[in-house]
Amino acid sequence: MTRKHRKHPYRKLPLPSNAPFELKPSSRKGWGAFAKTRISKGATILIDKPLFIIYKPSLKITEEDVLMAFLRLAPADKETFLRIRDNGSASFESLLATMAQNTFQVHTGGSNLAAFGMFVLLSRFNHSCSPNSTIPTSVSESGRETLAILAKRDISAGEEITFNYLPGFELKSQHERHQLLQFTCKCEACHASSSAQRASDMRRTLVRGLQYLSRGKDLDEQTQDSTLPFSIDPELKKAAEELRIPLSSRFLIDLLSMALLEEEGLIDDLIVKKIQTVSGWFETERNDRIAKHAMAQATWREKFCVAARLYGREDAADHDVAMELQTMRDLALEQ
Ligand SMILES: [Zn+2]
Repeated sequence: MTRKHRKHPYRKLPLPSNAPFELKPSSRKGWGAFAKTRISKGATILIDKPLFIIYKPSLKITEEDVLMAFLRLAPADKETFLRIRDNGSASFESLLATMAQNTFQVHTGGSNLAAFGMFVLLSRFNHSCSPNSTIPTSVSESGRETLAILAKRDISAGEEITFNYLPGFELKSQHERHQLLQFTCKCEACHASSSAQRASDMRRTLVRGLQYLSRGKDLDEQTQDSTLPFSIDPELKKAAEELRIPLSSRFLIDLLSMALLEEEGLIDDLIVKKIQTVSGWFETERNDRIAKHAMAQATWREKFCVAARLYGREDAADHDVAMELQTMRDLALEQ
């Protein structure tokens, strides 16, 4: 480590005494957080409290908002704020720029105002499109908003700890991800050989197409139909949009999506929740038996292989499922 790195202001950032990570220069981007010991899957890596929260009715924060929040800080917190560097090296040009690069939106507990927390430590973790940790949203008991970062899988000592900055990144190709990130990501998923890269892009795009069939709309809400990165047979697309995809096909679509995400190393509790399978919905006894047997398998790939026997089968619940999904869609539209 060079003298410059030993003197770096991040050396003085106050880490929790039991933190299983340290801050160091990263080959990925500026500085990053690295595991000091082995961290088990599901373990909490850090619970971070924001230095301050700015509440605004809109997403627009001004330099003055940040200045006011900064001036109200205790002297030690002011010092912490001033230690933050752009990409680990140069100082930021403005308070607003510091805020923009170190902010997470937090839940406001029923308030209509958007809440932006200044998270100094959490913001030191770099992005990866194949991350080993995740940040589910939570609220602390004290009522102050906190965010936790948890290990998605076992992390070895010395490994850089990363999470994903992009919503819906699982379904985006490398090109799409880099456009949204506005920097060239050097993570394992982006840095793979070109054939592995193409396979990764293909898997993620395929999952997005499969999920379109299951939901009748794109998982990436921002994208208009015309710009979907895949094409679907018009008849099938119409059937998906009208929620006419039979239950057995829905089940297979979701299992195949999970098997592909498993291949990408992206399975965690959040994605399992996002792509809930319809395994418990079958009414035809034989279908239900196969579905249960499939779900008892260890991996998503194995679940899919067992469930493949259901392909093309009708189920007594098909009509009710379509009605139920329509009701759910109507309710979602009302909200
Ligand atoms: Zn990447």
